[in-house]
Amino acid sequence: MKLPNYSEAKKRIKEDVIRTCFDPTDLIENIVVNKYYYIKTFGCQMNEHDSENISALVEKLGFIKTDDLKKADLVIINTCSIRENAHNKTFGFLGEIKYVKETINPNMIVALGGCMSQEEGVVKTIQDKYKWLNIVFGTHNIYDLPYLIEKSLKDPTQQIEVLTKQEKIVENIPVKRDSKYQAYVNIIYGCDKFCTYCIVPFTRGKELSRKEEDILEEIRNLKKEGYKEVTLLGQNVNAYGKDINSSLAKLLKEVDKIGIERVKFMTSHPWDFTDELVEVLGSSKNIMPFLHLPVQSGSNEVLRKMGRRYTKEAYLELVNKIKAKVPGIALTTDIIVGFPTETEEDFNETLDLVDKVEFSGAYTFIYSPRENTVAATFENTVSNKEAKRRLYLLNDKINYYSLKDNKKYQDKVVKALILSESKNKNIYQGYTEHNKVINVESKENIIGQIVDVKVTEVKTWSLNGIKI
Ligand code: SF4
Repeated sequence: MKLPNYSEAKKRIKEDVIRTCFDPTDLIENIVVNKYYYIKTFGCQMNEHDSENISALVEKLGFIKTDDLKKADLVIINTCSIRENAHNKTFGFLGEIKYVKETINPNMIVALGGCMSQEEGVVKTIQDKYKWLNIVFGTHNIYDLPYLIEKSLKDPTQQIEVLTKQEKIVENIPVKRDSKYQAYVNIIYGCDKFCTYCIVPFTRGKELSRKEEDILEEIRNLKKEGYKEVTLLGQNVNAYGKDINSSLAKLLKEVDKIGIERVKFMTSHPWDFTDELVEVLGSSKNIMPFLHLPVQSGSNEVLRKMGRRYTKEAYLELVNKIKAKVPGIALTTDIIVGFPTETEEDFNETLDLVDKVEFSGAYTFIYSPRENTVAATFENTVSNKEAKRRLYLLNDKINYYSLKDNKKYQDKVVKALILSESKNKNIYQGYTEHNKVINVESKENIIGQIVDVKVTEVKTWSLNGIKI
């Protein structure tokens, strides 16, 4: 049994990573018949993409997907640990699963993976209080899940297999993509930034870039399969290549040559955003005019305490450079309010930054301490009531700028990639090049197509239009 160890994660050294390929002949395929799996994913796109790998692996064992928890023989929970709330949701969901296991299917196998399983304290809690949970696996060894399930089918004792660090990058893990038109492609794993409030460097490990040839091969294959859009993923995507003598700018130039219609990347840390990358944004044919650039706060003092490595002025300078190269770019961000010691003045600096950037959207949060992080040791002087008040004011401003940005598109023609059909007849849903959600009226089925749409109505968080 291997357990995660928090202190080891901080001491880790940059040893050479093993690069290997998933060997499908190691996998005993179709070992179950007429058995169903249910998968629940919490958290970010990295987790969603991990769940695409997990689904493919368990389907190779013979499991069939179900959306009905009560019908499931195997339940997999892919967890998130970014906020306290994510933990609470998972433990709440475990209560629901326990009830189903006890009352409907005592042979149900329950597996918990994702970021929470990389936390030492969580694994101990599971060993003490959730003995009925069959499998715990980590973010670094998803490829082990089939073997743990095989073991579990024979032996009901709890199987825990969590690696404290990413020992190897395994290419070619099977994947069952949720969409036939839009794909996630991991390009870098982990994060070395150690922002003082964040647990990701401990749960996802150090920054490790995939080899450029492997990424390009995956994207070429996606293009052949008819995919219209790829999103290059990483916790800190623009640190790509630092460990293998490459860069995100260089990679994007190569991706451009493949000619897939729409390319996005996330999530970017402003500190790693190079001038070369700004140039590539301006010159690329296929990178979408949309960027998620988390700022977290507009106060230099708060940014310093967060360990973000940039100032408000540096962030604004970067935004101005990007806007000059890509006029009309849609910028979204993440903002935390109520960080320990955040004063009214600090908060006003954040509001001022929002006024200056005019973000087209933002994920806004009240600070919640994560165990074992540096910020968890800071004295919190902001009451919950005050943090809620600040969140309300901030959201009000974000909504204002989102609607203002959307109004630019009234009566204009935009291009949209259509991904699904709505419940309403002849209404389809997709995303514009600026990553706006758009509802499109069309008499013909347009799923999977990039279509021209005349915008007829704008709302705060979406557009409506008619295919022309
Ligand atoms: S850059 Fe992002 S993922 Fe990395 S430590 Fe900071 S907040 Fe966490």
